[in-house]
Amino acid sequence: MTESSMTAKEIKEKGLLIVYTGEGKGKTTAALGMVYRALGWNKKVAVIQFIKGKWITGDRKFAATLALSHVEGQPPLNFSTMGEGFTWESQDLSIDKRAAEAAWEKAKGFIASGEYFLIALDELTYTVHHHFLPLPDILSTLKNRPKDLTVVVTGRDAPPELIEMADLVTEMRKVKHPFDQGVPAKPGVDF
Ligand code: ATP
Ligand code: MG
Repeated sequence: MTESSMTAKEIKEKGLLIVYTGEGKGKTTAALGMVYRALGWNKKVAVIQFIKGKWITGDRKFAATLALSHVEGQPPLNFSTMGEGFTWESQDLSIDKRAAEAAWEKAKGFIASGEYFLIALDELTYTVHHHFLPLPDILSTLKNRPKDLTVVVTGRDAPPELIEMADLVTEMRKVKHPFDQGVPAKPGVDF
């Protein structure tokens, strides 16, 4: 459907494809800020992080407390990290690929379910960059998503085809980063 053939209501309720990319800090936190807002409006939200789920992060810890506070019924936030329950001891790339594929299958299920207002696919670009997931499948899944579903994709090196398809693209540009002065990543700021 082209924009011109949509009714005013459909345009208003149209879900957006949002991409946060670039070298500067702020991509994941921008996506999580939107998650926080959507939850404030009692919208149903899913976050899937396409990073190795072996480090503890504040993101995950807080999501776990939210889940615990909603023991009755469905938690409003469905948060998962790639490869939870995997053993990541080896540097075997085929393990990364299988974990990425499993996380992507889960994402596709959430997208197709029609239940969500917002789905954040954090670091999805990483899986494309490393050839763990086929870009055409990602593009067609995002293109054919429910029309009121907003999807946020984060990660460096967003492929041009994804940027082309998106409604909103912000490129974070590094002006300064404390890492360059040797300041290590901080809990509560960086993870
Ligand atoms: P954040 O999660 O803080 O929003 P991000 O998603 O933009 O950051 P990633 O590319 O996912 O950044 O990098 C993950 C980690 O690397 C984070 O801990 C982040 O603080 C740190 N980081 C981000 N940008 C830079 C940079 N330009 N130099 C060094 N470290 C960075
Ligand atoms: Mg990130």
